[in-house]
Amino acid sequence: MKIPKEIVISGHTIKVKQVIPDEAKENFIGRLETKNLVIELNMSYTEDMIKEALIHEILHAADIIYNLDLNEYHIGVISAVVFKLIKEGYYVKD
Ligand SMILES: [Zn+2]
Repeated sequence: MKIPKEIVISGHTIKVKQVIPDEAKENFIGRLETKNLVIELNMSYTEDMIKEALIHEILHAADIIYNLDLNEYHIGVISAVVFKLIKEGYYVKD
């Protein structure tokens, strides 16, 4: 899975920025700026952690776009499951 520069969900563009924040001041793997739908990924973490964080933040964005009212627990579980499926190479074949 490569890190996209942007993802479009239902006509909403979510930008993805790869950053290396000052560790002393900021502590996150991924985060979503909800007003402008910008995801920041902290590239100082492991590849797997960053990829799962990307899925997690995309779900936060989808939650906003579709008014799902998911909580942090829901998003944490769904992102962990989706990441596992992708990591293990599951796919749907015609
Ligand atoms: Zn979250």
